[in-house]
Amino acid sequence: MLLTPARLRSLLSGVLAPGGHVALAALIANDDFRIDGERVTLTIRIDGTDADAWEPIRREAQERLASVSGITSALVVLTAERKGQGAVAPEAASGFAALAGIRHIVAVASGKGGVGKSTTTCNLALALAGMGLKVGVLDADIYGPSMPRLFALKGQPTVKSGRILNPLEAYGCKVMSIGFVVDSEAAMIWRGPMVASAITQMLRDIDWGALDILLIDMPPGTGDAQLTLSQQGRLAGAVIVSTPQDLALIDARRGVTMFRDVGVPVLGLVENMSYFLCDACGKRHDIFAHGGARREAERLAIAFLGEVPLDMEVRRRSDDGVPVMIAAPDSAPAKAYRLIATGLRERLRGLQPAAI
Ligand code: ADP
Repeated sequence: MLLTPARLRSLLSGVLAPGGHVALAALIANDDFRIDGERVTLTIRIDGTDADAWEPIRREAQERLASVSGITSALVVLTAERKGQGAVAPEAASGFAALAGIRHIVAVASGKGGVGKSTTTCNLALALAGMGLKVGVLDADIYGPSMPRLFALKGQPTVKSGRILNPLEAYGCKVMSIGFVVDSEAAMIWRGPMVASAITQMLRDIDWGALDILLIDMPPGTGDAQLTLSQQGRLAGAVIVSTPQDLALIDARRGVTMFRDVGVPVLGLVENMSYFLCDACGKRHDIFAHGGARREAERLAIAFLGEVPLDMEVRRRSDDGVPVMIAAPDSAPAKAYRLIATGLRERLRGLQPAAI
C-alpha cells in the first residue's frame, strides 16, 4: 500500500497529545513526515519544557507506525525547533542539560564499517587533547563498540546521582561507550529506534562536565541513529571517514548527503588507509587509488582534512590499547592525526557561537 503522509496521519488517530484533549494528528503537518521507501520518520515539534510528558506519546506513535505493513523502520523524534527558526535551547528541549557544558559536538561517521572510523575518532580525540583542549568521546557505535578496547578501558561508569553516570577517563579524554554497560552480543540484536534511544540516553545521562569538544563515534551507515543525533544532539557538524576505494567513497557520499539533508554541516572528509608506508623499504606505496577522497571532497565542496597512512603500527597499537598518538607521537600517522585535528579546530573556529 502506498505510504502517504495523509495516510500515516490517519493511522495516528486516537493518539492524544499530553493533557489528553488534543489529537496528535491535529498537531502535525504532512511535511513533518519523511518517507524514504519503507522507512518513515516523523518529527513532532513541541514546547521545549514538555519533553517528559511527550516521551510516552512519542513511543506510542512510533509503535503504531512500526506495526504498519509496508513500514520496515519507523522513528518518531521530538524537537523544539520551530519551522523557519533555529533550534531553541535544544538542551532544555530534550532534557539534555548534561550537554550544556560542551562547546562543540562533532559526529565522526562513515558510510560503511571497517574504514577505520573508530580508530580515527580515538586518535583524533587524543590529538585534540594534545592541543590542550578538553575532549570527550562518545562511542555510539552500538553494533560494535570499540572505544573500550582502543582506550584499554575496563570496568563500569560510576553513578554520579540518580540516573546520571560519570564517564570513564583515559589519556586525558573522557570516554563513554555502550560497551561499558551492555555486553556486545546483546547490543548486536538492537535495531533502529532502540539504537537511537540508547544513544539519546548516553548523550543525556552522562555528566560530561565542561568540554571543548565531544566526538561521537557514530554507527556505520546512514540510519535512524544518525538522524536522531542530528536532530537531538545539537551537532556542530560531522567528519566523514573514508578509504580511497571507489566503493567506500560512494558510501561516504551517501553520508555527506544524509547530514546535509538534516542540516548538519559536513566539516570535512578524512582519507584513511590512504597509502602504505613500507617500514622495510621506506617507500610509499599507493595501494588503492590514493587521492580519491581529496578529489571527492572538492567535488562535494567540503574540506579535505587529511590522509592517514595504512600503517601496521596503527593496528598493532590499537589492539594493545595504547593508541598510536600516545605510543608513537612522532610517527607518520600521529602527524597525520595532528594535522586533521588542526584542520578540524580551524573549521570549528569558523562556526558560531563558541570558538575554541
Ligand atoms: P570502523 O570503526 O570504521 O569499523 P575500525 O576503526 O574498527 O573501523 O578499524 C578497522 C580495522 O582497521 C582495525 O583493525 C584497525 O586497527 C585497522 N585500522 C584502522 N585504521 C588503520 C590505519 N590507518 N592503518 C592500519 N590499520 C588501520
